[in-house]
Amino acid sequence: MAQTAASDLTFEAPDEEVAREIRSALAEWFHHEQRDLPWRRTRDPYAVWISEAMLQQTRVEVVLDYWPRFLRAFPDVHALARATDEAVLEAWSGLGYYRRARALQAAARVIDEEHGGVFPTDHDEVLALPGVGPYTAGAVLSIALDLPEPIVDGNVERVFARLFHLDGVRGSGPLMRAAWSAARYFVAREDDRVPPRVWNQALMELGALVCTPRGPRCGACPVGEWCAGRAAGVADDLPRPKPKRPPVEVRLETYLAERDGRWLVVQRPEEGLMAGMWEFPTVEVDGPGLFPGELPGGLGARLEPAEELTTMRHGITKHRITVSVRRATCADPGSKSARWLEAPEVRELALTGMARKLAERLDAWESGLGA
Ligand code: SF4
Repeated sequence: MAQTAASDLTFEAPDEEVAREIRSALAEWFHHEQRDLPWRRTRDPYAVWISEAMLQQTRVEVVLDYWPRFLRAFPDVHALARATDEAVLEAWSGLGYYRRARALQAAARVIDEEHGGVFPTDHDEVLALPGVGPYTAGAVLSIALDLPEPIVDGNVERVFARLFHLDGVRGSGPLMRAAWSAARYFVAREDDRVPPRVWNQALMELGALVCTPRGPRCGACPVGEWCAGRAAGVADDLPRPKPKRPPVEVRLETYLAERDGRWLVVQRPEEGLMAGMWEFPTVEVDGPGLFPGELPGGLGARLEPAEELTTMRHGITKHRITVSVRRATCADPGSKSARWLEAPEVRELALTGMARKLAERLDAWESGLGA
């Protein structure tokens, strides 16, 4: 039977007995059903922090590959703080949302300089680190250090919206406030059997494996008997979707210029979208100014576009991008941010996602072999 059936956006705490039952049922389930993920085997705050930063906008399967490699390249805060920007971007290349990598490095430098290289344990100090919001602070402090810090990510928001019938729009202020309120309430009821690190991870795991965005498996749910959303028959509808906005169409041209087996690549500006990443010379033909309309450093006057090799589709956040990939010639790029490199060297750069897709196909295009 549902114990809390408020169908608005106020979290009404269940009584202590019900809260205890919910906590132990979920922890018990987690104990048996959790996925064996490598970052769950460590209590090193640095390693947990890297995993949380990666997992924020990237699927678990992808992070399984990147996380150990990143830690091999930068095994501790000190190594990350001392690394070059380029080395960090290169290790992040392909994960997208490069601001995360830059923020990680900036935060590592703060930890190195202001906290002696030791990840801080004070909530406000963690929250003051570049790129660290309430979710990441709560995740690192609870998972690595077992402190009773709440967390709310998309999974937790969904579980609470359904469990307590919080009828709000995904990611909206009112629903997030209610979800944080529930998160604070439950994590504060820590006990030896359900410590904060178990409770928080169990909540997220329930959202990932059982209380999924579509078709929640309520029959297999360890907290199903207390679920108000399920009892009201609206579990699958919560949280409400955000109103959809049509994607923004962008048309680009990318130029593949080859000279003696070397390809022309350029570095994006230090500010703005995908700052500092490498790509093939690219201009925006039509769109909202996501890319510049002209090639940098006078390159436009020297580069001669030729036939189209292929058309590609690509997505960056809300943008739907169509790229016309053209062969080109260029005698001398005349720009400091341009390099001629062989295909394997190109693939070692910190490339944009779109450039990486093209770089994988360079061998086929070399010497006019075609796409
Ligand atoms: Fe989610 Fe269903 Fe469990 Fe409720 S009973 S928490 S809707 S999986």
